[in-house]
Amino acid sequence: MKIAIAGAGIGGLVAAMCLSRAGFNVEVLEAVSELRPLGVGINIQAGAVRVLAGLGLELALAATAVETRELRYANRHGQTIWADPRGRHAGLPWPQFSIHRGELQMILFHAAEKMLGADRIKFGRRIAGFEQKDSKVTARFVDRDGKTVDTAESDILIGADGIHSAVRAHFYPDEGPPKGQGILMWRGVTVGKPFLGGATMVQAGHHNQKFVCYPISRAHAEKGEALINWICDLRMGDDAMLLREDWNRPGKLSDFLPRFEDWTFDWLDVPGVIRAAHAIYEFPMVDRDPLPRWSHGRVTLLGDAAHPMYPIGSNGASQAILDGEAITQELLAGGDPEAALQRYEQRRRRPTARIVESNRRKGIDVMLDIVEQRAPQGFSKLESVLPTDELEKIVADYKKLANQDRETLLKMAVAQ
Ligand SMILES: Cc1cc2nc3c(=O)[nH]c(=O)nc-3n(C[C@H](O)[C@H](O)[C@H](O)COP(=O)(O)OP(=O)(O)OC[C@H]3O[C@@H](n4cnc5c(N)ncnc54)[C@H](O)[C@@H]3O)c2cc1C
Repeated sequence: MKIAIAGAGIGGLVAAMCLSRAGFNVEVLEAVSELRPLGVGINIQAGAVRVLAGLGLELALAATAVETRELRYANRHGQTIWADPRGRHAGLPWPQFSIHRGELQMILFHAAEKMLGADRIKFGRRIAGFEQKDSKVTARFVDRDGKTVDTAESDILIGADGIHSAVRAHFYPDEGPPKGQGILMWRGVTVGKPFLGGATMVQAGHHNQKFVCYPISRAHAEKGEALINWICDLRMGDDAMLLREDWNRPGKLSDFLPRFEDWTFDWLDVPGVIRAAHAIYEFPMVDRDPLPRWSHGRVTLLGDAAHPMYPIGSNGASQAILDGEAITQELLAGGDPEAALQRYEQRRRRPTARIVESNRRKGIDVMLDIVEQRAPQGFSKLESVLPTDELEKIVADYKKLANQDRETLLKMAVAQ
């Protein structure tokens, strides 16, 4: 069976490797003319590392990434609200990795080239349309000037073409642009001093003004430094949502630094980290409404094309990776390919929609808002602001929803 995948992002490349290893004939067609290590930091949750480890990639990732030891939530004064061990530090069989998104994509690309064959990943091919006829899908690809450069015939087409998916737009032409709630994110990477043990991911502040940071480079850690990925979220109002989402749009310090100027914690100088960044990017926090259907005949969606979500709880890349595993298992189970795509959708559509919806209601960040509302000047005893029972329920509910709870993850280990 021949499977064409539009998009060589995190989701497309992982799906391509899972499918190829299962014996399918896979071709990946990517819009850009060459992959460059773009983006800043990204997290791969333990359950998704399990899939990558199954593809033989754990060592390559460990050589580049930081194995995240702890996730810590703090108020805007730097006081800890909740800290949670991650990955192997939580007794799971796999680590959680914090990594540069571009490096992750390059690791996946080189591994996919080896597994599929270099000629099976084609660049400069933007999917522009497709037709389904007699159990075949014929897709048309254009270059950046809109000139048709290729057609690909396959038994199945997977749209892994990201938040502006053309495959999704084919089925939902009236959907319009992604949606947001007026929050802009400024993202950057700074070489600095290690903080909180050198492998902690921090979320500080509250939903309308948040600072997220975590180290992403093993090489820097080995030199006693930290390559710190950071994100400043600020609620700006609806006009901010008019910006077209472009992962490479440069940001300006003066637009957000003043709001973080007094965020000097005893363990981190937030304005100092922001000021020392060598590049800053601006991006609106956007998602799309969950879809009623992903699979239409022999065509389906995967990753951000299917379920773009706010980057709350670090789930975007991990859920795309889990999609790749699920679609492979359902196609491998055999039978009618259209039925396999329906089963894939049944497995993945509702769980990912629940994360999209939960993130719109702030997801696990709700704990930050509760503390900000009840103790805006900080607290002397957390228990009197956010009782342990209430906190534990917020955490347990979110982990269950995002397949990050221990029980689900250990079940996945046994199932392997
Ligand atoms: C340049 C870039 C930088 C990013 N930086 C970050 C970051 O710093 N932090 C973070 O958390 N997330 C980042 N993301 C998003 C993140 O990678 C995804 O949210 C997540 O990993 C899910 O992956 P995906 O493969 O579904 O989507 P993506 O990783 O977005 O990949 C989609 C791929 O499809 C390609 N494509 C788009 N349209 C077409 C088309 N019509 N035909 C063929 N191919 C097409 C794109 O070029 C891209 O390679 C970035 C995405 C991109 C594209």
